[in-house]
Amino acid sequence: MKPTAFAGLGAMGFPMAAHLARQGQTLVWNRTAATAEAHAAQYGTQAQQSLEGLARADLIVTCLPTSQEVWEVMRVLGPHLQPGTVWLDCTSGHPSSAREQAEWLRQYGADFLDAPVSGGTAGASAGTLTVMVGGDPAVLERVQPRLAFAQKVVHVGEEGAGFSVKAINNTLLAANLWAAGEGLAALALAGVDLGAALEVINASSGRSNATENLIPQRVLTREFPATFALGLLTKDIGIGLDLAQSGKAATPLLAQVGGLFRAATTVTGPQQDHTAALKLIEQLNGVQLGTQAPSLGTEGPKQA
Ligand code: NDP
Repeated sequence: MKPTAFAGLGAMGFPMAAHLARQGQTLVWNRTAATAEAHAAQYGTQAQQSLEGLARADLIVTCLPTSQEVWEVMRVLGPHLQPGTVWLDCTSGHPSSAREQAEWLRQYGADFLDAPVSGGTAGASAGTLTVMVGGDPAVLERVQPRLAFAQKVVHVGEEGAGFSVKAINNTLLAANLWAAGEGLAALALAGVDLGAALEVINASSGRSNATENLIPQRVLTREFPATFALGLLTKDIGIGLDLAQSGKAATPLLAQVGGLFRAATTVTGPQQDHTAALKLIEQLNGVQLGTQAPSLGTEGPKQA
């Protein structure tokens, strides 16, 4: 079997490439070369100094911030690819880029699959990611057994469909997170203990991943661990809104979510964890989301 290559050893890519290494020879490249060297030392992968060094592989996996960085990498590596190579892009990218990149790679006899992932850094470490794939199902069938970082792989349609599903999934994540944040701020101002409120909500119909996991683990603890950047989530919502606009879909609620997350990114900073968006809700309400009963004093933000 020819080697597999992985480009983009970030928060997601680093653990994802480690799973590939369990299956066979794995070539890794990262813009900051020291990260690739560290990966090689830790997992026995082969760090490449140049992108061209990845061309020996017949499966190239990328996981970069946006489709723009994928284009940068593809324009360098693409002309060196062997015919029959499959390029599987795990970036949360743009559907229109997927179609253009698939077309561009065809001149080198290579196939493109858009294959964004869900499950966060915890899922990447555990090898339990969900992968949503757009492109030729026969090409997916060829490479699917090699996707060692995946627990569930779903073919969702033609090129770009994987990116479309991912963008809408993350727009729903943002909507649920924001709505839960507003609801909890209202409860905090009413004097309700948020730990008790979440215990009820999570056994009731208002629950979501935001109320079950994100808010208790990241917001109430004030930890906001930066595993998924707010700027990346806001990028995903933008892709979801582009998709809606190109299909002339009426999505007034999702448009509102886009505006709120753009504002939160500006106020909080794009490198913060995505859950830090709720700090804007806290500012708007003069309350901090916590599990204590609120102090009714007028000085500073209230603890809730
Ligand atoms: P990170 O910011 O942690 O990593 C980004 C990676 O891209 C790094 O390896 C970085 O290299 C590289 N990179 C950045 N710019 C360039 C460039 N111009 N050329 C080449 N390489 C570049 O991002 P994540 O791993 O968090 O996210 C990657 C993708 O996965 C995004 O599309 C994100 O939306 C998606 N995603 C993220 C999840 C998460 O929980 N974090 C969950 C699901 C999807 P360097 O080391 O040099 O900076």
